[in-house]
Amino acid sequence: MLNHSPLKTSLLFVCIVVLVLGLSIISTQIWGGKPEQLPAPKKLVMEQEMTLVQFGQANDLSNSVLKEIFELKAKTDLEKSLQEYGTSDQIAAKVTQKLALASEHATKNWIKIPLKFALWFSFLAAVFILMRKRKHVSGMRKWLLFLSLLIFGVAMGADPSPMGTVKDAIHLYGTAHAIFPPRMIALGIFLAIVFLANKYICAWGCQIGTLQDLIFQINQTDKRKAIIGRQIKLPFVLTNSVRILFLSIFTLVAFSVGIDIIDSIDPFKIYKPTYLGVSGTIFLATLLFTSLFIYRPWCHLFCPFGLVSWLVEKKSLVHIHVNYDTCIACQKCATACPSTVMSAILRQDKKTIPDCFACYTCREVCPTDSIHFSMKKRTLPPANFFEKKEG
Ligand code: SF4
Ligand code: SF4
Repeated sequence: MLNHSPLKTSLLFVCIVVLVLGLSIISTQIWGGKPEQLPAPKKLVMEQEMTLVQFGQANDLSNSVLKEIFELKAKTDLEKSLQEYGTSDQIAAKVTQKLALASEHATKNWIKIPLKFALWFSFLAAVFILMRKRKHVSGMRKWLLFLSLLIFGVAMGADPSPMGTVKDAIHLYGTAHAIFPPRMIALGIFLAIVFLANKYICAWGCQIGTLQDLIFQINQTDKRKAIIGRQIKLPFVLTNSVRILFLSIFTLVAFSVGIDIIDSIDPFKIYKPTYLGVSGTIFLATLLFTSLFIYRPWCHLFCPFGLVSWLVEKKSLVHIHVNYDTCIACQKCATACPSTVMSAILRQDKKTIPDCFACYTCREVCPTDSIHFSMKKRTLPPANFFEKKEG
């Protein structure tokens, strides 16, 4: 009884949030001062009759930076006129692009990034193997989620993250028409994981995904009843429409006025709390509180990677598969699934199957062991399968 009291759940919720914030402040100080955030683009001072050296002095650009931007062959080229390198617009575009890429490079922690990816591969592989061996995973799930957010969020920080790769790629291209190759590699790796094993990276590796998931889980009894209030499943047509609209507005604003509208509410900043700001804190508090009642609200309603990976997930090699030879159509899996995806899988509604976060709840509750994560192609249930069994 005490285990499932609203008071205990509330305290646990507060403890998790305070612990994450507190440890993240310490962790960001240990990693050092790299903000991993682009400075705002500065306005260039430019007159066509300037030489390159004068242009550099007016804009605080060193000779080595000028050499790289204008691809100079000899030192004497610095005395050439700016006009020789194009129109004002062309030069401004070239400088903005090169400076943006240089800033990207300078703000990254090149020790942490490969280390984090190595840990991601090991952790996801371990979870995959563990989950294949164990059918009853409820208790273990909470600890794995907690461990994951401690490693990939608290210890390794907010960046990189699956969401950040999509968001920052769009923003950088929108503001500077630049593509940062390391980010595209990271995005390719994340999407390759989705292609291989469903949303495993979101399920067990994403810093904000795991935090929301853990909060949702602590508000459930062992029989998956909400301890505080009611846990609801929002219709996918609603959540996905909001997610598409949000990404469209984000892209439009990034390309038209160069502003990153996610930055001020970015929930990943819980892992670098000093950058949260007032709007970020209010949004984060609302999001985490909502996570008690709705499964992964950020993933379903806002996350750009959530949307992109939902599309890739359609072709995932390993995914939830139901064996209709042994299924007794009790639909316990659909009831236990934290979102509407399992009921869509049972209906085989191919076009609108929502995001599956590989949480293994459906497999755990199935009384006939008819659900597996497997490479088998999904098959249709026999005609009127559920109606007949219900009848
Ligand atoms: S959908 Fe959720 S879990 Fe996946 S990247 Fe976005 S925030 Fe993380
Ligand atoms: S319960 Fe099953 S179908 Fe639902 S999200 Fe979890 S793994 Fe996917």
